[in-house]
Amino acid sequence: MMRFMLPLLLVQVTLLLSLSACAQTAEPAVVRQEINVNLAPESHYLSGNSTLILASGAKKVSFQLAQAAVIEQVAVEGRDAHFSFSNSSLTVDLPHGGNRATLLVKVVYHATFNDPVPEQMVGDEDPTYGVNGTITSQGVFLGGSVGWYPEPSVTPGRRIIRISAPAGTEAVTAGRRVSRSTSQGITSSVWEEAHPVGRLSLSAGPYRIEERVVDGMGVYTYFYPDNADLAPRYLDAAVKYLHFYQELLGPYPFEKFAVVENFLPTGYGFPSYTLLGGTIIRLPFIPDTSLPHEIAHNWWGNGVLVDYREGNWCEGLVTYLADYLLEEKKSAAAGRDYRIRILSDYSALVTPDRDFPLSSFIGRVDPASRAIGYGKGAMVFHMVRTMIGDKAFFGTLREICRERMYRQAAWSDFTRAFSRSAGKDLAPFMAQWLLRPGGPRFALKGVAARQQGTGWAVSGEVAQASPSYEVDLPLRLETAGVPVSRKVAVAREVTPFSIAAPAAPRRLLLDPDAELFRLLSPAELPPTINRIKGSEQLLVVVTKACRASKGTMQLLLASLGQQRAAVIGEGELDSKLLNGRDILFCGVPRSGLLPVLPEGMVISNRDFSLFGERFSSPDDLLFLTLRNPQAEGRVQALFLPLSEAAARQYVPKITHYGSYGYLAFANGENRRKGRFPPLGGGSMVELGKEGTQ
Ligand SMILES: [Zn+2]
Repeated sequence: MMRFMLPLLLVQVTLLLSLSACAQTAEPAVVRQEINVNLAPESHYLSGNSTLILASGAKKVSFQLAQAAVIEQVAVEGRDAHFSFSNSSLTVDLPHGGNRATLLVKVVYHATFNDPVPEQMVGDEDPTYGVNGTITSQGVFLGGSVGWYPEPSVTPGRRIIRISAPAGTEAVTAGRRVSRSTSQGITSSVWEEAHPVGRLSLSAGPYRIEERVVDGMGVYTYFYPDNADLAPRYLDAAVKYLHFYQELLGPYPFEKFAVVENFLPTGYGFPSYTLLGGTIIRLPFIPDTSLPHEIAHNWWGNGVLVDYREGNWCEGLVTYLADYLLEEKKSAAAGRDYRIRILSDYSALVTPDRDFPLSSFIGRVDPASRAIGYGKGAMVFHMVRTMIGDKAFFGTLREICRERMYRQAAWSDFTRAFSRSAGKDLAPFMAQWLLRPGGPRFALKGVAARQQGTGWAVSGEVAQASPSYEVDLPLRLETAGVPVSRKVAVAREVTPFSIAAPAAPRRLLLDPDAELFRLLSPAELPPTINRIKGSEQLLVVVTKACRASKGTMQLLLASLGQQRAAVIGEGELDSKLLNGRDILFCGVPRSGLLPVLPEGMVISNRDFSLFGERFSSPDDLLFLTLRNPQAEGRVQALFLPLSEAAARQYVPKITHYGSYGYLAFANGENRRKGRFPPLGGGSMVELGKEGTQ
């Protein structure tokens, strides 16, 4: 206890100074709260008491506590105090403090928590599955909103939580684990928060605990026995990503990190721990996807808190720093793929009636709100980073962590901090992305190339719909030689441009690397396997070179949900059938039927190569989707197994890669996968044959 004395006094002095300016009716500052709960899973029962040290001077203090709670006693400075309790609100009258700086308040209560746990978890519409508070022998989850302890309206300066339960029932909550023990049939643990933020949640169950100490801090897994063998994998990943984010953002803001299993398929991030469902923990990719996302939330959302009045920025930022940035670290192409996916998802999912500005995003309720809050939000951070550079961008994020940790920040705080680093006012730039729904629609118009001396000049206009956006729009001119990249400052509905090129121009592309957030027209949507799955006009053409048997072809179509698609032989194909349809070829058809292949791809019926990697073993298989040049908005796909055995082996896997544009399988696994840029419509102009050699 001694070691708390000095900081405690310092806190009191500052509290008293700040209180003198407050109105008499204000809620008192809470110097410290201790919470003691005893869980009885067999009877869904919790008995608890909480002791608070308050700054004196207020006439009353109020708490939120579960409506169904029974209050056994309320005492102030050891004497029974007058209180009222209704509608989950407990108000305690406080005596005049006299010359005391603080008052000691104690609340003794009990309650039952028994939200029914659904037998079957269906859909992801309600991420809580209707369970906010339940105490069962299967497991305990007490969310922050259920009032399992008396919660003062002012977050305490320090919190200590003691939890006891029948032997073997291990509990976790926020804070450093001070102790943990089992004796006389009771397992208990003590947790302490030096920087409490928000409401406390609590989980408990028959956990097996694994732990490591990293830089003096405890890193834990609390897994049910069935998943206990996954602990080392999760501890390795947790340590790796804690280091990664400390390097990127500055010190980890809490006293421990724990990965805790839930009996519901949740993915919650709380200060200092994450609560993941058992079925989720078993998925092999979670340690490198959801886990880093939840770890990053300790800085953003749980550390620096969201001021919701200007909308929720934290999902966009965490998506950018976890889901996106980890892809970008793999390769520039993987990063570009992720950005393309954000744009494609937005255009596919956010219909005009579902659209709203980022400043109205509070939380995900359906795929459209996810595409806005997570996807578009991430792209806003990407555009800022592209504009001000890595040093200023990440430096600003570290500065916000230093200055606003454990406090709220709003979008406008980010705008101000980025503006300071950039040395220019970014408020108008940010306003167009935060306050308007949707995004810009850009198109190239009137593009022409002409020879100029020994080189070439390509000129034209960038057109955009109203209201116009002000951005530096990347253009790339592909030529017979090295491509030429330019940024055009567009601000109005029409912006003229001219690009000089030393070699003959071939194609002009508008933002081919998806550096900007923009709306895609149907013609621009990249070809993907999902578009074959979703086709209502699919024609399947089996060439003579198709190595798959009839039965395997049927399996492929069934797995793509296309068992009713028309199937014909290549001989029956006439050019009229190609119009207005999506086409799936098995085997490479005669020349002229497939669209021009993307650069870096070469295919034949004996082998294929992708970006320099050649595939020629009978075990190999390619699945490739392309735009159908004869029907805008339609796609063509090529299914190219190099043997029937390869076809049989990989057919069941293809459907799981729906958002990809191409897949190559070899040696029993996926070896290459990728997406194509959103091109076509007004974002790509072919510059004629005269430029080619
Ligand atoms: Zn999140």
